[in-house]
Amino acid sequence: MLARVREHEKIWDFVIIGGGATGIGCALDAASRGYDVLLLEQNDFGKGTSSRSTKLVHGGVRYLAQGNVSLVRESLKERGILLRNAPHLVRKQAFIVPVYSYWDKFFYGAGLKTYNILSGKYGFGKSEILSVEETVKLLPNVKKDELSGGILYFDGQFDDSRLLINLAQTAAEQGAVLLNYARVFSLHADDDGKIDGAAVSDELTGQVFLANARVVINATGAFCDTVRRFSDRTAENLIAPSQGIHLVFDRKFLPDETALMIPKTSDERVLFAIPWHEHAVFGTTDTPLEKAEIEPQAREEEIEFILDTAKNYLENPPRREDILSVFVGIRPLVRQENTQTTASLSRDHLIEIDKANLLTITGGKWTTYRRMAEDAINQAAKLAGLPKKTCVTENLKIHGATEAPSAENDLDIYGTDADEINSLIEENPELNERLCAALPYRKAEIVWAARNEMAETVEDILARRTRALFLNARAAIEIAPLIAEIMAEESGKESAEIWIQEQIQIFGETAQHYLVKPSD
Ligand SMILES: Cc1cc2nc3c(=O)[nH]c(=O)nc-3n(C[C@H](O)[C@H](O)[C@H](O)COP(=O)(O)OP(=O)(O)OC[C@H]3O[C@@H](n4cnc5c(N)ncnc54)[C@H](O)[C@@H]3O)c2cc1C
Repeated sequence: MLARVREHEKIWDFVIIGGGATGIGCALDAASRGYDVLLLEQNDFGKGTSSRSTKLVHGGVRYLAQGNVSLVRESLKERGILLRNAPHLVRKQAFIVPVYSYWDKFFYGAGLKTYNILSGKYGFGKSEILSVEETVKLLPNVKKDELSGGILYFDGQFDDSRLLINLAQTAAEQGAVLLNYARVFSLHADDDGKIDGAAVSDELTGQVFLANARVVINATGAFCDTVRRFSDRTAENLIAPSQGIHLVFDRKFLPDETALMIPKTSDERVLFAIPWHEHAVFGTTDTPLEKAEIEPQAREEEIEFILDTAKNYLENPPRREDILSVFVGIRPLVRQENTQTTASLSRDHLIEIDKANLLTITGGKWTTYRRMAEDAINQAAKLAGLPKKTCVTENLKIHGATEAPSAENDLDIYGTDADEINSLIEENPELNERLCAALPYRKAEIVWAARNEMAETVEDILARRTRALFLNARAAIEIAPLIAEIMAEESGKESAEIWIQEQIQIFGETAQHYLVKPSD
């Protein structure tokens, strides 16, 4: 990728800043239309919010309660498109809303019927009102006292950072150039004051370079205001950052395949408990922040809130000492007063074009990344004066897509790449060894990610190529030295021993954010 940047003599059509769902979605959209595009991510792809979601591909039951029908319909359509284009990563997930009064049964029953009707031809399965017995059968750990039944409905579930890596691969196959560890530290303007390039620091070598573009797209999520001020020092904040945490536990707290949805917590939010990679993920919260951090920290009251809410719905609720990992994401929520901005195309995401022609796209959600990218590239092409080209991503298969997706084998999540990982194992059976008993990962996956998925650090492997850090932070810390050794060998690093020690230390520090200390 670096060589392709060096050899690129022309001006890029678009330089995109930010390697999360929004930025990589834009890179894929632009490249597949035939535009010439460079994407720059300051850290690893998905280091921001896009690896820290609740892992749902959904219409947003919450938006339905707010009466935002058009947004729900649009998201449900995107949910269906994503299942079709990435069947190896998105799967249908059954949810139950347990109800404790007849009014709730009627209210949520009617709401979720509407949710299903709105999905039209993209439906995932009929919602149903369940008896107490049926609810308990599907959710054995549900609190039974005064239970009057449940509502069953279906939504989508996925692995966010794996989808992101596959999207980056698809974008590269379509001709995009994508760099991780490439931080934009300022923007360049022409004599008329229009932005025509980004100054980039290669965070692995310290080298700096300028990437010239017809249009620069700011897709930096919760960090977008910092980049907006590279263009206009006086720009007011567009977003209000807010963090959400998730707690990860053993599957015994959610023993069946069905997920739990709590429609109204004490702070009027929705809370999910979902099975994910043989673990149970509980979340999320909504805590306003002063400033977005790259590695946010869960607050004590957020942890307590999730544990307390779970107690109200589960017979055998998880306790603090059961927490295997905690992960935190930051929502780039668009400030209410900014939702009328000129180029805004949806109430959920926002596109701003400032006086210097910097295009910022923010807000939205993972599920709608494709639609957001389509809107952004339509605007960007117009701004650049480029010939209009039709968006093709609705029918574009994502890297790894298989005709016959399965979820029986640990490697199925790689889709068509699973065959290549199996070939690595055939060549060297030692690569079939598991890294540890607590996690499903094998040595071959590390070799694969180091060779083919632009993993540069131990954290890239443990947090976003595999999900070890998100599933079990202590186990991830234990296997970090082994990962560092495999990576050093793969890349033939000089001073390998120093690099290994550095990586173990840096990863150990980052992993502290994912650990919850037992209470005194
Ligand atoms: C707790 C939580 C749960 C969620 N759950 C769901 C869900 O279940 N389903 C769903 O559909 N949506 C969900 N969302 C929303 C979804 O995750 C986000 O909308 C989406 O990930 C945002 O992607 P993004 O690319 O805009 O931002 P990010 O993923 O944060 O990407 C921005 C990137 O820009 C990079 N960057 C910043 N500054 C620079 C710079 N100067 N140079 C280069 N790069 C830079 C950052 O490093 C970062 O990687 C959830 C959000 C949160 C917070």
